[in-house]
Amino acid sequence: MIACGCAVCTSSNPKDNRLRSSILVQSATTSFVVDTTPDFRQQMLRINNRKLDAVLFTHPHKDHIAGLDDIRAYNYFQQKPMDVYANSLTTEALIREFAYAFSEKKYPGVPEINLVTIDESPFVIGDIPVTPIVAWHYKMPVFGFRFGNFTYITDANKIDENERQKITGSEIMVLNALRKEPHVSHFTLDEAIQVVGELKVPQAYFTHVSHQLGKHDDINDELPLHIRLAYDGLQLSI
Ligand SMILES: [Zn+2]
Ligand SMILES: [Zn+2]
Ligand SMILES: [Zn+2]
Repeated sequence: MIACGCAVCTSSNPKDNRLRSSILVQSATTSFVVDTTPDFRQQMLRINNRKLDAVLFTHPHKDHIAGLDDIRAYNYFQQKPMDVYANSLTTEALIREFAYAFSEKKYPGVPEINLVTIDESPFVIGDIPVTPIVAWHYKMPVFGFRFGNFTYITDANKIDENERQKITGSEIMVLNALRKEPHVSHFTLDEAIQVVGELKVPQAYFTHVSHQLGKHDDINDELPLHIRLAYDGLQLSI
């Protein structure tokens, strides 16, 4: 957190040093990100990610979309527009907030975006099947996504019963857990632990963690062994 001197923000443990939340999903032939955070450029540079086939968005909050302009590099090297999948609430926000990329007369070099409005119907990107899962972020519907046996849900504090059925059978789930104190639009640590238990997912990682939660190693020590805090650079194979 900018301008914060707390124990997490001043920690020397790299796992306490977090960029904004997103994931890169890769198969042998397909590669896409879920959300382009304000740190997207740094995240792609950090791992020298050379190929990106698509972007999926969870919801239109700035900490999840602000980095979209930087897909320009992939436009340049891949010589084609970027496929961007999002619900209508998010596509409207993208057109509003990146108006220069959608205007009639575009300045040369602006990001080239192929917007695909999605609903709850499953679809496929390359060889990766995608099932959208609707969750609630206070009163905003957000998309989580299931890819095979892996489910990713960030920025939510409620998942309805019928949507929970779409998660059942996942082997690994990533879920948001902001802090211990109640929050209007994010699961607390206890609420997230409860959801993992209710869904009977055998392995879970918590993301979108605030500096207010406490130090990574301390919180991990408090958690049951099948639940761990995620950290920047964490890689999972499924
Ligand atoms: Zn802090
Ligand atoms: Zn949000
Ligand atoms: Zn967020």
